[in-house]
Amino acid sequence: MSKAKILILGGGFGGVFTALELAGSADVTLISDADHFLFTPMLYEYLSGEVEAWHIAPRYDELLNDNIHFVQATITGIDLASQSVSLKGHEPLDYDALVLAIGGVTNYVGVEGAEEFTLPFRKLSHADNLRQRMVAALDRIPPDFAPQDARRETTFAVVGAGASGCELSTKMADLLNDAFTRRALQGEPRVLVIEMGDRVVPGMGDQIRQFVEDALHESRVEVHTKTRVVKVTADEITFEHEGRQESLKTAGVVWTGGVKMSPLIDHLDVEKSKRGLLVVQPTLQLSQHVNVFALGDIAFYPDATPTLAGTAQLAFQQATLAARNIKAYMAGEEMHTKHFEELGEAISLGTERAAVLTGGKAFGGALARQARFALYTSRLPTWQHRLRVGASWFLGGTTPQPLLPLGLER
Ligand SMILES: Cc1cc2nc3c(=O)[nH]c(=O)nc-3n(C[C@H](O)[C@H](O)[C@H](O)COP(=O)(O)OP(=O)(O)OC[C@H]3O[C@@H](n4cnc5c(N)ncnc54)[C@H](O)[C@@H]3O)c2cc1C
Repeated sequence: MSKAKILILGGGFGGVFTALELAGSADVTLISDADHFLFTPMLYEYLSGEVEAWHIAPRYDELLNDNIHFVQATITGIDLASQSVSLKGHEPLDYDALVLAIGGVTNYVGVEGAEEFTLPFRKLSHADNLRQRMVAALDRIPPDFAPQDARRETTFAVVGAGASGCELSTKMADLLNDAFTRRALQGEPRVLVIEMGDRVVPGMGDQIRQFVEDALHESRVEVHTKTRVVKVTADEITFEHEGRQESLKTAGVVWTGGVKMSPLIDHLDVEKSKRGLLVVQPTLQLSQHVNVFALGDIAFYPDATPTLAGTAQLAFQQATLAARNIKAYMAGEEMHTKHFEELGEAISLGTERAAVLTGGKAFGGALARQARFALYTSRLPTWQHRLRVGASWFLGGTTPQPLLPLGLER
């Protein structure tokens, strides 16, 4: 008897971990547009050179075993009625069971110029672009430049002071400050983080927020809360605070202001939440299509701690449930449900520090940075990869790579 065909759409946290758990139990195909997985929580360390691409972005052909087919293609349509998926430059594929794990896309919330002129920060290439932008800004500064001119040339804004915006802005500030010292430039760079709400990391608890606020201060990041970005151009950002608008010349604006659903999900005619997420049953199935499972950033799962929404932690935990239930569905057995809790929080703060919340206790500094590396090594997708990465960090260290002049850069 031929094995059931399972298509998994998306090779991120939800898709890869589901595929690895299902390997061998069915005819499993994973489809993704990139050739590598990305461990997004360490993209900041990739920006700073504390880790290399192979550590956090292993290629699927190294990661997936022989029991999983991998198709690198852009998914262009999902037809739940005919049970088929269309792909760019590839024959459509049909399925017996489908896993939807395509994650979200950057949400520019309609801000004028944001999509065209800001730098997104979700992929390896985005981190490369941002690093190049910082190097180019530094390279434009002659050694005798006045402090205020050097500061203007190296003004960067990060939009959104969620975990991502705070991790990124502290990392950028530390790298730029270090480059000013190494290059003997006068004055200091300027990094702003701009947030509409009244505080930084609004989704995190007060204990960890204190570490984040201290780190922003130590890295000399300017924090602008209750501030709304209204316009971005190639070299300027305009924001509004208490009814007053201000425009600043910038060398770059990075957008970490939120996530929205991909048009592929928008087009599905199934039950959605107010934010457009797919409402899933406690088994992760869509109620009108029992052979379709959804997880990660695109799924609204009612039985999870609210702070888990939109996190790798949730997608990672859901993958185990998805794989288990797909096996049960194929065997005609009873489905399982699970309540998802937070596994702890870890946030990178600049190039020397981090903060970790575990077992209700928060700690920070260089020790937390090491703990975060250890924690994330244990969460990498396969034990072979964990072993290689762990050994590389243990033996080779995780020192940041300074922003060197173009030509000497990595
Ligand atoms: C910079 C950054 C840092 C983060 N840090 C943390 C953190 O510290 N802790 C935490 O818990 N969460 C973190 N997150 C959030 C976390 O990455 C997501 O919640 C998680 O990745 C969601 O998993 P997913 O499987 O739903 O989607 P994703 O991991 O986003 O995977 C989606 C996959 O689908 C593919 N795809 C999408 N559209 C198509 C298409 N049309 N065709 C083919 N393939 C497609 C993508 O290439 C990707 O491989 C971070 C996110 C970012 C961007």
